Amino acid sequence: MDTTTNTATKKVSGILRNNRMHWVGDGFPVRTLFAYNAQGNDISPFLMLDYGKGEFPPTEERRGVGEHPHRGFETVTIVYEGSVEHRDSGGGGGAITRGDVQWMTAASGVVHEEFHGREFAKSGGAFEMAQLWVNLPAKDKMTTPRYQEVLDKEIPKVALPDDAGTVRVIAGSYAGNQGPAKTYSRLNVWDVRLQPGRAAEFAVNEGDTVILPIFGGTVRVNGTETVEAAEAALFEQSGTSFRVENTGTDEVKVLFLSGEPLNEPIAGYGPFVMNTQDEIYQAMKDYQSGKMGHL
Ligand code: MN
Repeated sequence: MDTTTNTATKKVSGILRNNRMHWVGDGFPVRTLFAYNAQGNDISPFLMLDYGKGEFPPTEERRGVGEHPHRGFETVTIVYEGSVEHRDSGGGGGAITRGDVQWMTAASGVVHEEFHGREFAKSGGAFEMAQLWVNLPAKDKMTTPRYQEVLDKEIPKVALPDDAGTVRVIAGSYAGNQGPAKTYSRLNVWDVRLQPGRAAEFAVNEGDTVILPIFGGTVRVNGTETVEAAEAALFEQSGTSFRVENTGTDEVKVLFLSGEPLNEPIAGYGPFVMNTQDEIYQAMKDYQSGKMGHL
């Protein structure tokens, strides 16, 4: 069926990819698939996505990234394989494994560390994760930090029509199923699994941002656009429905991201994302003077 002639079809505006890998600390070999300094408000309310996949040998050492600050947004870590341990100055912390999510609201400021889970480090093995940065509305940037541990068993898993696959609702809602993660603006973060040769139709609000990173496999969007593994389809903001088809022979992981654009100015520097340059200088000062706390 050709859906591209439908006036409500939400069209792909670009395929986002990045062939350059970089290390976050010594634990996370990632590719940044999109970022606000390249895509700006086209990806709002999302700011950045790092995707990492690798194989680690057993070690007694701690692999990861030590104490560093954040202010003005949320870091969302989704573990597909392996384990991540986190500790922050707001008192949040814990280890998450396959299927679990950490939703950390840095807001007014935290200092945290991110390492491989101790047990995983000892045994080694396959590691696959994504870290998404979600922007906060200007009015919430200086709110109190919060740590939400969202475990696999708490995430509703909903079947797609025609046995096409499943939707794990991390945040937002799908077909009346509400995800456990609380958010500051209207958005959806779903872990969608699409079976080989199957397709699914999705409906979104007019004007919403939609980004579909694909992890593993190949999909075709609206019958025309091909998206390969470790690429993300970015959509035009107009339109209300689109179709995703798994054209490969394996299950595809689609990280379904949609939401109402914030349409506020973005000023960022490293681990701080605010609305003005003055607020960035203030964040640096506050971090240096210890106002974001210590571990
Ligand atoms: Mn961090």
